[in-house]
Amino acid sequence: MARRGRVVIDRELCKGCFLCIRACPLKILEEDSQPNSTGTYPSKAVYMEKCIACGNCYEVCPDVCINIYELTGAEGSAGVAGVISAGRGL
Ligand code: SF4
Ligand code: SF4
Repeated sequence: MARRGRVVIDRELCKGCFLCIRACPLKILEEDSQPNSTGTYPSKAVYMEKCIACGNCYEVCPDVCINIYELTGAEGSAGVAGVISAGRGL
């Protein structure tokens, strides 16, 4: 079974550089249509079900806004197996 992940982006810390969008091999991330409190349009995970927890988005984020969790279990009932990459939120 392919590895599955969940990406959590701190939209208040995000500065909208979109390096993570370019780095994602599965095109999961896009620009959010809603700005954060600073008026920045942050990155957003829109196709989370495709995430393979590769860590690319975390690696390129200059502001450490991203946490990645590896998931276990069947689709729709996934538990968290572990943190692949921990941003500032942990
Ligand atoms: S962990 Fe990998 S597949 Fe998942 S959103 Fe980040 S770059 Fe894309
Ligand atoms: S790389 Fe980091 S700061 Fe840049 S858009 Fe993605 S989450 Fe935001």
